[in-house]
Amino acid sequence: MRCPYCGSLDTQVKDSRPSEDSSAIRRRRVCPDCGGRFTTFERVQLRELMVIKKSGRRVPFDRDKLMRSVQIALRKRPADPERVERMVNGIVRQLESQGDSDIPSERIGELVMEALRALDSVAYVRFASVYRNFREAKDFHSVINELADATESARETAPSMPSAKPSPANQA
Ligand SMILES: [Zn+2]
Repeated sequence: MRCPYCGSLDTQVKDSRPSEDSSAIRRRRVCPDCGGRFTTFERVQLRELMVIKKSGRRVPFDRDKLMRSVQIALRKRPADPERVERMVNGIVRQLESQGDSDIPSERIGELVMEALRALDSVAYVRFASVYRNFREAKDFHSVINELADATESARETAPSMPSAKPSPANQA
């Protein structure tokens, strides 16, 4: 593994351990030439994915880039890093299990929106505003209305709870 600081090819692994959810191996490395320290992750890759940009350009799928855009949307939000990691793993697995290894960038955006909607509504609106290229306040209104509708229909489809009747014991 080439040192990201000085370019030396002679870096050493100091420590290897599974990540929190055991979906990756984390290796701490040190460069004997410049003393630089860095961490690498080894992950299962089921297949090689290519992203088809709106311009038609094909670029290799980059998990780190996906993670960065998710983290930008989640900035200063109270999201559990492990859950975010699992969310991104889930998105990647969904992409890998599709029939075609060429994936339109819109498809990735949709999966991220779906996942963020379940995780954090503020991050969802943030991501949607960038992804859908919001220009006006009404764009925000419409996505917030969509969120409200989704919450509403989730409530409607949920099994109805028997209404709790206050018993005399509770009121005492
Ligand atoms: Zn180095």
